[in-house]
Amino acid sequence: MIDFGQTGLSLFPVGFGGIPLQRNTEEEAAEIVARAVEQGINFFDSARAYTDSEHKIGLGIKGKRDKVVLATKTMARTAAEMAEDIEISLRQFGTDYIDLYQCHNVRSEEELQTLLSSKGGLESLVLAQRAGKIGHIGITGHRPELLLKALKEFPFTSVQFPYNYLEQENKAELIGLARELRLGIIIMKPLAGGAIREAEPALRFLLAQRLGVVIPGMDRLVQVEQNARLARDIRPLTPEETEGLNRDIAGLGQDFCRRCEYCQPCPAGINITNMFLFEGYYSRYDLHQWAKERYEASTVKASACTKCGQCEDKCPYSLPIREKLEKVHELLG
Ligand code: SF4
Ligand code: SF4
Repeated sequence: MIDFGQTGLSLFPVGFGGIPLQRNTEEEAAEIVARAVEQGINFFDSARAYTDSEHKIGLGIKGKRDKVVLATKTMARTAAEMAEDIEISLRQFGTDYIDLYQCHNVRSEEELQTLLSSKGGLESLVLAQRAGKIGHIGITGHRPELLLKALKEFPFTSVQFPYNYLEQENKAELIGLARELRLGIIIMKPLAGGAIREAEPALRFLLAQRLGVVIPGMDRLVQVEQNARLARDIRPLTPEETEGLNRDIAGLGQDFCRRCEYCQPCPAGINITNMFLFEGYYSRYDLHQWAKERYEASTVKASACTKCGQCEDKCPYSLPIREKLEKVHELLG
C-alpha cells in the first residue's frame, strides 16, 4: 500500500482509471468495479467529462463505499459551475461524500487564474470541503510548468499528470516539488493513451518507482486481475522487459499527440487537441460511436485546416499536425 500524500489515505498502488467504463453496459461496469474492489483496488478516478463513468463506478461500489476512495474532476472554472458539478458528481456516484475533487486538465495561465480568483472554482471547492461534501482538493494537467505554478499558488492535496515509459521528459521538477510538499501523486496515462502496447512491463516500470498511485483505464475483468497482480508483485524490470519496451517504443516513434496544447490557438478555430483525442478514443479505446459523435458535434472540424502551419511551429514534438488532421477527418468525418 502507498500513503497518499498527507491525507492519511492508504492506497493500493494500482488505481482504477474510469475513462473506458463509458463503453461498458451498466451491468458489465458494476461487475468490473466490484471485482476491482475484491482484488484490493481502492482508488477510483473519474471525471464529469467521462459521461456516465461516475454513475457506473457508483453502481459497482454499492454497499462498499467505506472500502474505496472516490476521486473525480471537472473542467468547471467558475464558482457557480464548480458548485453545480460537485452536486452532479455526488448524485452520479450515489454518495454524500467524494474523497478527492480535482480541477481537471488546467491548460493555461488564464484558466488557473480564473480558478484562483474570487468567484473562481476553488472557492466552491473550499466551501464544499467545509460542508463535508468533499475531502481533498487536487489538480490535474498536462503542462508541468503550469502545474508547478499552481502548486505554489494554492495548497492542493494532490497532483495528477501523465507519466509513462515514453513520457518522462520535463517531469523531474514537478515530481520533486510534489514530493517536497508531500502531495498525493496520481499517474495518469501509464500506457501513453494506449500508444504503449507492452502493458505489463510499462506498468511494472511505474510501480517500481513508487511515485504514487498509477491509474490505468480498465474495462475488462481480465485487466483488473492482471493489474492487481502486478501491484501485488512490484519488482524492477528485467533486462529483457526493458529491451521489449524499448523495441515497442522504437516501433511507435514519437508521432503521437501528448495533449499539451502548445499548438493552440489555431487561427481557423480548430481544437487540435480534441481532434487527436477523438481519433485516439476511436483507434485506441474503440469508442467508435462516442468519437464520431464528438467529432460531428465539434463546431470547427479538422477539415477546416487552411494548412498555415502555425501549429506545427509551436508543437514541441514536431508533429505533422496538418497531415494528421487530414487523417482524422478521413476517419471521423
Ligand atoms: S495548420 Fe491548420 S490546424 Fe494548424 S494552425 Fe493552421 S489552420 Fe490551424
Ligand atoms: S499537437 Fe503537439 S502541441 Fe498540440 S497538443 Fe498535441 S503534442 Fe501538444
